[in-house]
Amino acid sequence: MTILILGSGGREHTFAWKIVQSPLCQKLYVAPGNSGTAEIAENIDLNVTDFQAIKKVVLEKQIDMVVVGPEDPLVKGVHDFFLDDEELKHVAVIGPQKAAAELEGSKEFAKEFMFRHDIPTAAYQSFDASTLEAGYQFLETLKPPYVLKADGLAAGKGVLILNDLNEAKAELKHMLVDAKFGAASTKVVIEEFLDGIELSCFVLTDGKNYKILPTAKDYKRIGDGDTGLNTGGMGAVSPVPFATESFLNKIEERIVQPTVAGLQKDGLHYKGFIFIGLIKVGDDPKVIEYNVRMGDPETEVVLPRVKNDLVEIFQAIADQTLDSIEIEIDSRAATTVMLVSGGYPESYEKSKEITGLANLTEVIPFHAGASLRNNQVVTSGGRVMAITAFGETYQEAIKKSYQNIEKLHFDKMYYRKDIGFDL
Ligand code: ATP
Repeated sequence: MTILILGSGGREHTFAWKIVQSPLCQKLYVAPGNSGTAEIAENIDLNVTDFQAIKKVVLEKQIDMVVVGPEDPLVKGVHDFFLDDEELKHVAVIGPQKAAAELEGSKEFAKEFMFRHDIPTAAYQSFDASTLEAGYQFLETLKPPYVLKADGLAAGKGVLILNDLNEAKAELKHMLVDAKFGAASTKVVIEEFLDGIELSCFVLTDGKNYKILPTAKDYKRIGDGDTGLNTGGMGAVSPVPFATESFLNKIEERIVQPTVAGLQKDGLHYKGFIFIGLIKVGDDPKVIEYNVRMGDPETEVVLPRVKNDLVEIFQAIADQTLDSIEIEIDSRAATTVMLVSGGYPESYEKSKEITGLANLTEVIPFHAGASLRNNQVVTSGGRVMAITAFGETYQEAIKKSYQNIEKLHFDKMYYRKDIGFDL
């Protein structure tokens, strides 16, 4: 089988690393890819939302399966684009169709879906510029902190959590009237604040059947102790020690089952990963958000723990025979630590030489914002590389990640020193 992965992050390098282990994969392309994927597959330079360019590559390279990494092409309808095209419709696409991708594309859509299917989540109301006054009144009925969410995709920056009522009102106006997040904040969801510890659950579905993958916890803030600005993610741990069997059962019964059944009832066609962002409130799981793809850096700890042939799983998703697959999970813990460019998530420099990669032992370096220049790996983004390790416990794994990071260097390299600190 000839396979194309869309995307360029650590997530896509992990997919590639797993896919090339499959005897079912004869040839792998990654578009646009990075220095890590270049080592094990062939990179093709294209923009993942340029569907005509994707079509050209798929026909030219005779691609049988497309695995979509990021949300943007899914929300823009890449799967439907394939189904609607005579020349492309035989190609298996791993990722939901456009209508289902709205679970991530619109927070209001996701909240309505959860309420319609009795899936536990925070109480909410949504507002647009014409209902600004009603938005102020709703805020007055809530206790701080106030949670304001831009309805559309805002690259992880569209959620504001504010302690002061007047500030919350001002921000609401800023989002709705002054388009703080552009078209993404034409509507704003105001939510009840949920107090608890977060974790993520990953589900594979073929639209009929589902399989649950290991849980993971990621660390979003730039600074140790969960301080400072939000990032794409600074590290992750899998499994999550506080997700006991009885808690996992609650997640499956109250959230996963009604989510997959709800998709079917609503006629939302879904073949791919569902990422469920959860918060443990007391002993109960509540949904914070759905993402319609894997997380990054969660992929870097979840997929290495899946022992199955990933291509076989993807084929079963395409054929809607996921029920025939038994998912086998490595019982060891996996951790990853993200190395970032100094200054990230604000401005940072690029093109710094990364040295020491050849000295790494017992870890898997998943490249993210890294590319090749004259055969040398250099930085090309904010999040540069995720260093994944296994251990009998997460403490053992994280020690290995950190010991190996000591061997790596690039100018202004930064990473969190406390991944797993709150477990
Ligand atoms: P990302 O892309 O970073 O995953 P997002 O922009 O899609 O985020 P959410 O995941 O909905 O937005 O919210 C971002 C973060 O805000 C959550 O990870 C959580 O820490 C916090 N948050 C969101 N909703 C609530 C809530 N109701 N109560 C408490 N915290 C919340």
